[in-house]
Amino acid sequence: MSRIAYVNGQYVRHADAAVHVEDRGYQFADGVYEVCEVWQGRIVDMPRHFDRLDRSLGELRIDWPMARAAFEFVVRQVVRRNRVRNGLVYIQVTRGVSRRDHFFPPEEVAPSVVVTARSTSTEAANAQAAKGISVVSYPENRWPRVDIKTIALLPNVLAKQNAKENGGKEAWYVDTDGFVTEGGSTNAWIVTRDGTLVTRPAESGILRGITRTVILDLIQKEGLTFEERPFSLEEAYDAKEAFVTAATSIVMPVVQVDDRTIGNGHPGSVSTRLREVFHTATDFQMV
Ligand code: PLP
Repeated sequence: MSRIAYVNGQYVRHADAAVHVEDRGYQFADGVYEVCEVWQGRIVDMPRHFDRLDRSLGELRIDWPMARAAFEFVVRQVVRRNRVRNGLVYIQVTRGVSRRDHFFPPEEVAPSVVVTARSTSTEAANAQAAKGISVVSYPENRWPRVDIKTIALLPNVLAKQNAKENGGKEAWYVDTDGFVTEGGSTNAWIVTRDGTLVTRPAESGILRGITRTVILDLIQKEGLTFEERPFSLEEAYDAKEAFVTAATSIVMPVVQVDDRTIGNGHPGSVSTRLREVFHTATDFQMV
């Protein structure tokens, strides 16, 4: 079965899907995106992702490309047409196609929309989670508006590539005060030696992850001890557990940060438990 993408009003073969060379996403990274998990044939937390999309579009003054209900229908269609049961759906909106010019294009230029979906291996993800991952620290070098989920991800690409070249699967950005902000494509968490979960406040310096928000609900439900505050790289080195969260990986245990082993070098019980119960706290949309 060939994959299907949605591009500006049409469902097309993924292999043929294309946008114009003067799309402002291509020229200026002038756009935003969302990634939702698809789990057992259902889209996870679509309303929350669409609320964040609304915020991102608003911050960049890009119009909604269509009514929200119509857009949600398109997203469900793309998942359905690609027969994804477990995987991801990617949603991108840019400021549209216009002659290259830094100023916003004329009002009549419509935003561009791309939606794609693909299956991922649950077994491979669970096998990775059973082992845990290494992360590699990297100096924070992004613009201050990382709260907006823009497609301008070059610093993230470079940080993650550096992690890969140093044996890691994720980068952890560290600010000039020595505090971890977040991962290249994940939010960062630790569990201290006394069992307290810690993650950085989302008011500034990080993206307010939807997975992060679900974990906050789970922490309440499970009655876990939690502090929302910045943690330093040194504190992470010394933590009992660490993990990262994102729609693409749910809860992924971290067993090494730079050259330091975290805890006993195996995924911790808190991270493992949160991964196991994750979908008890999410909302689902049937496709
Ligand atoms: N932080 C960054 C920089 C990200 O790119 C992402 C996801 O792509 C996240 C955090 C996690 O967000 P979410 O849980 O909504 O996937």
